[in-house]
Amino acid sequence: MLGRGLVAAVLLAATAACGASGSPPARGPQPEQLPHYDVAEDFSLPSSPTWKSAHRRGELTVGVKEDQPGMGEKNPATGEYTGFDVEIAKMMAASLGFDPDKQIEYKAIASANRETALQNGQIDYYVGTYTINEGRKKLVGFAGPYYIAGQRLLVRRDEKQLKGPQDMAGRKICSAVGSTPLQRIQADHPRAVAVAYDSYAICVDNLLNHQVDAVTTDDTILLGYAAKDPERLKVVGKAFSEEPYGIGVPRQDRALARALDKALVARERSGDWKRAYDATLGLSGRPAPEPPRVDPALTR
Ligand code: GLU
Repeated sequence: MLGRGLVAAVLLAATAACGASGSPPARGPQPEQLPHYDVAEDFSLPSSPTWKSAHRRGELTVGVKEDQPGMGEKNPATGEYTGFDVEIAKMMAASLGFDPDKQIEYKAIASANRETALQNGQIDYYVGTYTINEGRKKLVGFAGPYYIAGQRLLVRRDEKQLKGPQDMAGRKICSAVGSTPLQRIQADHPRAVAVAYDSYAICVDNLLNHQVDAVTTDDTILLGYAAKDPERLKVVGKAFSEEPYGIGVPRQDRALARALDKALVARERSGDWKRAYDATLGLSGRPAPEPPRVDPALTR
C-alpha cells in the first residue's frame, strides 16, 4: 500500500495546489493582530557558520510548511506565510538580528525532505511541526522544544466507526512520508492500512474523496484542517503520542542551537510566545498552554 501511495503522491503533487492546500485561509490571523518582534541590535554570532553566512547574504533562509493552517500556511494570493510556526521563525530571526518582515526568505519543505535540506545548507533553520527524536538527532541539530503536540485522527464528519486508534484495523489511514505519525502507524498498528503521501493536505483531499478513511498526524495540524472545513471534517479520539517540536538546525552548528534556545527562553519570558500562540493556534479556541521547558538534554 505504501508503494502505491508513493506513486500516487508523485502524481498528486502536481494537482495539490488546487485542493485543500490551495484554498485561502478561512479565518487566518489578520496582519494587524500579529505581534511585532523587536529586532536585536548589534547582534553577532561569529561562532555560528550558519549565522555568519546569512549575515553576509543579508537574509535568513528558513524552512517551513506551506499547507498546514494555523501552523505554517502560504496564502496563494499574497504569497504570505502565516501560523504559529511562522511566528516562531520570525521571533527567532529578530533575536538573531534580522528584520522578520524584510530579511527572511521562506522555503516550503515537506516532512520527508527536512534532514536533507538542513544537511545540504538549503535552509538556515527549520520551523515546521518538527518532532525532536533520537533518529533525527543523528542527522540534524535541534533547539527547543517550543511546543508539545500529540498524534490524533481526522475523519469525515459522518464517520461513525472510527473513534480512535483502537478502531483502525482494516481502515485506510493516511499520513505524510517521512513523518513520525506514519512510522507509529506502521510500527504499533500493523492492522491499519497505512497510506502515505507527500503532505497532509493531499491526505485531506483523499479523505474528502473517500479514498482513505482517516488522516493521522499531530493535533495542531488536524485541528487546523477541521477548523477550515467543519461541515465535512472532525478530529476524534485522544492524543496517542507526544511530539515535542524543535527548531531544526545544521547538526554541526551548536552555536546556532544554543543561540536559538536562549532566544526561545527570552521570547517566552517577554510574552511574545503567548502573543504568537493567541494570534494563530489559539484562534481554534484552546487557551495557550505553558510553553515546555527549553531543554538541551532533550535536543542534543
Ligand atoms: N511532528 C511530526 C513529525 O515531525 C508530524 C508532523 C510533520 O510531519 O511535520 O514527523
